This record gives sequence, C-alpha cells and structure tokens, in this order.
Amino acid sequence: MDKRSFLKTSLLGVAGFIASSFTSNGLTSGLPGRNRMKKNGFTQPDLPYAFDALEPYIDRTTMELHYAKHHAAYTQKFNEAAARLGLMRQPARNILMEVSKYPESIRQNGGGYLNHLLFWNMMSPSGGGLPSGELLEAINRDFGSLENFKGQFTDAAKNVFGSGWAWLIIQNDKLRITTTQDQDNPLMDIAADRGFPILCLDVWEHAYYLNNQNRRYDYINAFWNVVNWEFVAKRFSSYKKRTATSAW
Ligand code: MN
Repeated sequence: MDKRSFLKTSLLGVAGFIASSFTSNGLTSGLPGRNRMKKNGFTQPDLPYAFDALEPYIDRTTMELHYAKHHAAYTQKFNEAAARLGLMRQPARNILMEVSKYPESIRQNGGGYLNHLLFWNMMSPSGGGLPSGELLEAINRDFGSLENFKGQFTDAAKNVFGSGWAWLIIQNDKLRITTTQDQDNPLMDIAADRGFPILCLDVWEHAYYLNNQNRRYDYINAFWNVVNWEFVAKRFSSYKKRTATSAW
C-alpha cells in the first residue's frame, strides 16, 4: 500500500470509528441514564451521587447550583434550540461533531449539555487514588510520569483565560492535554485539537467560586482527590478496543 492510500485508509478508519462510536444509542460506558436521546428531547440524568458526596473537595451548594441550575439551563436551552432546528432525534454528540453547521445556540448549549454529563461522571466520592494498568502505561508513555501529567493538566486548566474546560483526549492514539473556551469540546468540528475526551475539568467560575473564590488552583488540586479513574480507564479502553458505545 502506498503512503497516500495508507493515509486514506487510516483516515477512513478513524472516521468510521468515530461515526460508529457516536451514533450508537447503547449507552454502556458507565454513564447513568441509558437513553438520554429520547423522542421528546435531551434529558438530564440524575447525578451519580448526592450533592454533598464530594465534600470537602467540592461543596454541596456548588454541586447543587451547578447541576440543578447551570446544567439544567443548558439542557433546556439545548432542547429549545434543537427543537427549532428539527434535531431532537439526533444524538447530541453527532450534532456537536457538525456544530459548524448550526447556530451559536447549539454550540453553547449543546456543549454545556454534553460537557457536564461527562464531568459528573469524571468524579466520584470514592475517586482520587491512582490510575492503573494500560491507562497508567499510556500516561507514562506520553507524559513521562503521572506527576508530570497532573502538573501539565493543572497548568493547562489554571491558564484557561476566562471560562472554559481542560481535557485529556486521545488523538491519533496518543494522549494529549488540550483546553477549550466557553462550552466548546474536542469533539466539535470547530475545535483546534480534536479527539476523544477521557477526562475533563470545568474551570468556569461557577464550578468553584463559592468555595474557592478566585483561587482556581485550589479547586484544581481538590479535583484530583475525586477523579474517577475507573471511569477514565473505561473510556480509554473502550476507545482502544474500538467498541466505544459511550454517550459521546
Ligand atoms: Mn459548569
């Protein structure tokens, strides 16, 4: 196979994988709410733990407002925007992968809807600890060590200007840290760094201001105590096995 047809085949393979990963409605990757793409729109699944379950690292009031006000508002506005465009029956991830075709309201509210779904599951009251197995091997391979990775992710999250997110993504079979502004995510066709997200951190002020005020760095450090590495590993291996059927 010459280089050109190899490249073409590889790209088709990636496109096919992404399409099959994100078109399935079988939500088996640890996210609650097995069918959030219903006829009547996009639903907000229950939090996988109580509002106060992440204390002392993330306080109850922040979690309650974040979930019941902010995420709920994105969900409602995404439904309204999607309804206007006749998109209610499409999986949210597919809409976002072609977000450049749609108005800003889809980008902002669809991003806000999906990003928070993932974020809630990235954390757990029994989280923290250390990643292991193939995920840890990949972190060591691509960042030198777990400590290096955490340092680089912390810096990236700290340095997001204004509102946005920090991400650990798989890009061309390598792990990479990236950030996005506002409610953009790495699946969007407008993202500078596209990839499959396996870990994310919301660094909007609404995610930490009540407890940490302007000290975003403290919030990021607290976050490491509740990271659900099991969930991250599940997303990592579902990508590796090309059997991803997660929500997005
Ligand atoms: Mn948020």
